[in-house]
Amino acid sequence: MSGFAVRPEPVQVPGLVHMHTGKVRDLYRNAAGELVMVASDRTSVFDWVLPTEIPDKGRILTRLSLWWFDQFADLIPHHVISTDVPEGAPDDWFGRTMVCRPLRMVPVECVARGYLAGSGLAEYEEHGTAGGVALPDGLVSGSELPDPIFTPATKAAVGEHDENITYADAASMVGGDTASLLRRTTLAVYSRGRDIARDCGILLADTKFEFGFDGEQLVLADEVLTPDCSRLWPAEQWAPGKPQPSFDKQFIRDWLTSPAVGWDRGGELAPPPLPTRIVEQSRARYVEAYERLTGTVWS
Ligand code: ATP
Ligand code: MG
Repeated sequence: MSGFAVRPEPVQVPGLVHMHTGKVRDLYRNAAGELVMVASDRTSVFDWVLPTEIPDKGRILTRLSLWWFDQFADLIPHHVISTDVPEGAPDDWFGRTMVCRPLRMVPVECVARGYLAGSGLAEYEEHGTAGGVALPDGLVSGSELPDPIFTPATKAAVGEHDENITYADAASMVGGDTASLLRRTTLAVYSRGRDIARDCGILLADTKFEFGFDGEQLVLADEVLTPDCSRLWPAEQWAPGKPQPSFDKQFIRDWLTSPAVGWDRGGELAPPPLPTRIVEQSRARYVEAYERLTGTVWS
């Protein structure tokens, strides 16, 4: 089972049309036809949106995305027009709003992997490949790959897992030229991000980009290189051969699946509310990722 532990009611703002409530973000269209993305403090774990929010999470991740978009500005244009809060919107939207160019979204999720984890690891253990790309023998959980690889996926309906596809599948969906452009751009942006992160003591194990077209121009969209769309590992704790500690929902996953809590990951019931201690530890992780990467103090 999956879904919302508590389904959020969309905030109604005059002049904005509510389009979509994602697991984490709410999407609106303004009178100019632009997309207004508002990042909430919701968290999803094991495909469930938890009943407890992590204070500031939406602001931290929004500011981090904006910072990354800037780092890539010479590689690819991004979709952000401004961070202006639409008139009439709640004060709470400050810092969590991005007004974006509406794009023709590419129906392929562009995943780059530089280290072995998650579904890449599972596929490697079964077939010796990740996303259909042959990898050398002897890699273990957390190993760095000889070169980063592009492992596309299709976007699943709400509550479903994204499904990995091969490069050939992606090419048949979007055409060979676009697939090649996506692979090239994904690997270029990933490699830049990985190098920047490494200098800040963070390993960028893998990440998912979303791209769209504005006319003929490929544009980087959605959020980028946040803990919600990436695996970020503290470099000093990296020890291949086991799952790595990460900057995302580690504490929450560990707590939910601990015998003391006894929540059944495969069951029908939504996860229980998080205790304050877990909320604070999680918030501190997001803050730490932000501060390490940007070299600024979160405030
Ligand atoms: P999930 O929580 O699993 O990510 P979701 O993708 O349905 O669920 P969001 O990520 O909150 O929810 O929604 C953002 C949506 O906006 C995605 O469908 C994304 O592809 C789309 N999107 C992002 N940037 C743009 C853009 N510039 N133009 C059009 N659509 C965009
Ligand atoms: Mg999404």
